[in-house]
Amino acid sequence: MNPIILSPALFKQIETEGANAFPNECCGILIGSDVKEAERAVRIVKRLLPGKNAFEADEQYHRFSIDPRAQLQAEREAAAEGLAVLGFYHSHPNHPARPSDYDRDHGWPFYSYVIVSIQDGKPDLMTSWVLNDQSNEFEKQEILVKEIMDALGVGESADGDGGAAM
Ligand SMILES: [Zn+2]
Repeated sequence: MNPIILSPALFKQIETEGANAFPNECCGILIGSDVKEAERAVRIVKRLLPGKNAFEADEQYHRFSIDPRAQLQAEREAAAEGLAVLGFYHSHPNHPARPSDYDRDHGWPFYSYVIVSIQDGKPDLMTSWVLNDQSNEFEKQEILVKEIMDALGVGESADGDGGAAM
């Protein structure tokens, strides 16, 4: 499967949003583009669109939902910049960084689902998942943390390829 690329700053931003939302879940939208890099497809995240968790406060600790209107708006804005909605990120407070049954039941194919585990308010593992529309199971997607040098290309790794891959 194609890896997903996050700059160190965006990786850190997801961790920070997750920590700040603790003990609730944070959630947001991944904006970027799928490009070819050295013969393979890579998914580059250009920016994040932090979302408001659409669930009531007493539900936010274990599930997230992005307002469909916010999602539609994000699709429009991204398209205007030649980008696309690549997926979503959310946190798992005091739970492992793997998709829950809820996540699987509400997941769509194509999109990347980035999950950061927040343990007692501190960022732990971050993983990414894509739903296989044949098996309806999530498959793990490699996260590469590196600087993005220009609109299409990908720069040399700043701190080691796959440093955050799990
Ligand atoms: Zn989840």
